[in-house]
Amino acid sequence: MGEIIPPQPGIMNIALYVSGESQLAGQTEVLKLSANENPYGPSAAAKAAYAAASGELHRYPATDHAPLRAAIGEVYGLDPARIICGVGSDEVLQFITQCYAGPGDEVITTRHGFSMYPILAHAAGAVPVEVDEAERVVDVDAILAAVTPRTRIVFIANPANPTGTMLEEGELQRLARELPPSVLLVHDGAYTEYADGFDGGVSLVEEFPNVIMTRTFSKIYGLGGLRIGWGYARQEIIDVLNRVRQPFNLSNGQMAAAEAAVRDVEYTRWCASENARWRDWLRAALEQMGVGCDESHANFLLARFDSPAEAEACDAALRAAGILVRKVGGYQLPDCLRITVGDEDACRRIVAVIAKFKG
Ligand code: PMP
Repeated sequence: MGEIIPPQPGIMNIALYVSGESQLAGQTEVLKLSANENPYGPSAAAKAAYAAASGELHRYPATDHAPLRAAIGEVYGLDPARIICGVGSDEVLQFITQCYAGPGDEVITTRHGFSMYPILAHAAGAVPVEVDEAERVVDVDAILAAVTPRTRIVFIANPANPTGTMLEEGELQRLARELPPSVLLVHDGAYTEYADGFDGGVSLVEEFPNVIMTRTFSKIYGLGGLRIGWGYARQEIIDVLNRVRQPFNLSNGQMAAAEAAVRDVEYTRWCASENARWRDWLRAALEQMGVGCDESHANFLLARFDSPAEAEACDAALRAAGILVRKVGGYQLPDCLRITVGDEDACRRIVAVIAKFKG
C-alpha cells in the first residue's frame, strides 16, 4: 500500500489530451478533416529523402541540425545560426516555457488561443492567464491590460487556430512595441505559409529583441506524422533554448525529409494556391447554406452554426457520413466546427452532407 508520490505543482491542472482520432473508431472509410493536415501530403522529394535516410538507422543523427537549418535559412532568408529545431513546433514552444517561465510566473494566452499554451504554462509551474479576444481576433489592448510584474510570456498564434483569423500588421507591431522588455512575445506561425504575403513574424523578430517566432513542418509541408518544427529569434534566446534541447531530438529521417520539403518551393506554392482556391469555394458554399465563417488565413475554416445544439447535430451527421471534423467546445466555441480544407473531392463531399443536414 503506502501513499503515491504527488507530482510537481500545476501538473494536475492539465487535463489529459484526448485525441479526436478515436471518435470514428470502427469506420473504415474516414475522411479526416479534423487536424489541419495537408490533403496532398508531403512533396515527393521529401518522401524519397525519408526513405533514403532509412539506410542509416544505426547512425546517431547530427546534434546541430546544420543542413536542415541551412536549408530553412536559404529558403526563408534567415540566419541559420538563429534557428532552433524541435520535435514539432510543440517542442520548441515547450523549450520556451521551460526556459522563460517558472513557478508563480504568469503566461498570457488569449480566449481562443492554441490549447498547448496553457498546458505548457502549467507544466512549467506557471499560471496561464487567459484574456478576451475581440470578435475571435487577438485583442492587443486586452493583452497589454493583463500584463503584471509576474508576466513572462505572451503567446499568440497568427494566423490563429481554431479561428483562422489574423492580427492586423499594425496591431502586431504595437503589441511587440508596448509589451515591457521583460516579457517574451511568442509569435506562433504554424499556418504562416497559407497567409498570403505574410512573413510569419520575421520582421518582428528582427526589430524587437524579445520576440520569438515558431514554425512547423506539420501543416503546409505535409509532415505532421514526422514531427518537425522550428523557431527563430535573437542569438541569445536561441542559445538559451538549446541548453534544454536533447542533443538527438531529431532523427536522420526527420531532418532529411524536412530539408527536402523546405527546398521544394514550387510544391509548397502549389499547395498554398490549391488551399486558397478550395478554402474560398468551401467558405462560399457554407455561407450560402447559412453557415457563417470568419475570413480564414489558414488551411481550415471555423464554421459557425446557429447554436451549440446545431453544431453538435451537424457533427453527428458528418460522423454518420464518415467525415471527421473538429469540435471546438474546448476552445469556448461550442456553436462552431473547425473544418480542414481538403482537396476538391473532400470539399464537395462535406458540402453535400452539410447541405442535406441543413435541409
Ligand atoms: N501552433 C498551432 C497554432 C497549431 O495549430 C499547432 C498544431 N495543431 C501547433 C502549433 C503544433 O504543431 P506541431 O507540433 O505539429 O508543429
